[in-house]
Amino acid sequence: ASLFAAVEMAPRDPILGLNEQFNADPNPNKVNLGVGVYYDDNGKLPLLKCVAAAEKQMLEAPKARGYLPIDGIAAYDKAVQGLVFGADSGAVKAGRIATVQGLGGTGGLKVGADFLKKVDPNAKVLISDPSWENHRALFEAAGFPVATYPYYDAAKRGIDFEGMLAALEAASARTIVVLHACCHNPTGYDLTLEQWKQVIETVKTRNLVPFLDMAYQGFGEGIAEDGAVIGLFMDAGLDIFVSTSFSKSFSLYGERVGALSVVAASKEEAERVLSQLKRVIRTNYSNPPIHGAQVVATVLTTPELRKQWEQELAEMRVRIKQMRTTLVEKLQAAGIRQDMSFITQQKGMFSYSGLTKEQMQRLRSEFGVYGVDSGRICVAALNSKNIDYVVDAVAKVS
Ligand code: PLP
Repeated sequence: ASLFAAVEMAPRDPILGLNEQFNADPNPNKVNLGVGVYYDDNGKLPLLKCVAAAEKQMLEAPKARGYLPIDGIAAYDKAVQGLVFGADSGAVKAGRIATVQGLGGTGGLKVGADFLKKVDPNAKVLISDPSWENHRALFEAAGFPVATYPYYDAAKRGIDFEGMLAALEAASARTIVVLHACCHNPTGYDLTLEQWKQVIETVKTRNLVPFLDMAYQGFGEGIAEDGAVIGLFMDAGLDIFVSTSFSKSFSLYGERVGALSVVAASKEEAERVLSQLKRVIRTNYSNPPIHGAQVVATVLTTPELRKQWEQELAEMRVRIKQMRTTLVEKLQAAGIRQDMSFITQQKGMFSYSGLTKEQMQRLRSEFGVYGVDSGRICVAALNSKNIDYVVDAVAKVS
């Protein structure tokens, strides 16, 4: 028999499956709200001006392509540290943070997970219920048992904070807790700073290992505001893991630009950690690619380009917020009796719309409006041209 005779078909990725269905749909009015991608008001994936400018600079002084160091471009890693922890952060200055370039946020998470498995092979992992679907798969693939802490409370249209804290209180020491630093995917609900402080207190007293996934910095309230939670963990003196993704914030999805930062107790400890992170990378893909990280490093370290990036990121953020407000107003105007204003309280690209699985399926089959069965829609895919159609469709299934 063939070596692969017993290989089972892996389950389809639910969101990519939705994309395939969308692409095959002949409906000329179809709208894809399933993806986790920001589109501009013309429904186009943006190429940021700061990115084009950095690429132009790079093209004007073309360089040969030797291997990068295992941990990536040094200037990039430094710029990431500055962005995530603040260039004036005591830990950065003390050299207590090991940062490596990664293949997107996913790559940062995976390098962190593989490293943690070596450090503490018997640890358990807790992720939010619900979470980005790849969190479970990724940590399980790294060999960890993965359980959830309560997060979304459908009845409350918000966070089950008591449930979350209770689960953290009950976790055994050294449990790895995956936390969304901002713009929670899929629900859009973030903890308040007060709630974060309570989480930090619990993480500290229970001796848990916080792993902050930062995939949407700048999409919630602003770069500094969205990153504030990192400062709170640092102030509490906790050793944290932070994965960074620039896929969304630079609209560089296909370049796979991200990072992993691990905060250690001392410079010497950080050096040992870095040596092990490099070993994980070396045995997986040897070293990272140049282009995307060079673009990001150029933008972050060139004052005019950085300013331009901050403006362009703000434009994306403001447009999403505008779409949230418009959606709520238009749904109300369309006669939907239920108060939908919770949509404006959510942050980032996604909204748990509160629509049921049946409603989501009708939106798809009858109107060509594609969202996830859970009711998650990507607000960043709404625009001034498709929003009326979407609102009309939602009104018809409500
Ligand atoms: N983490 C979360 C919460 C995400 O939503 C995503 C992307 O959707 C990622 C990580 C992965 O980002 P990247 O595409 O940079 O790997």
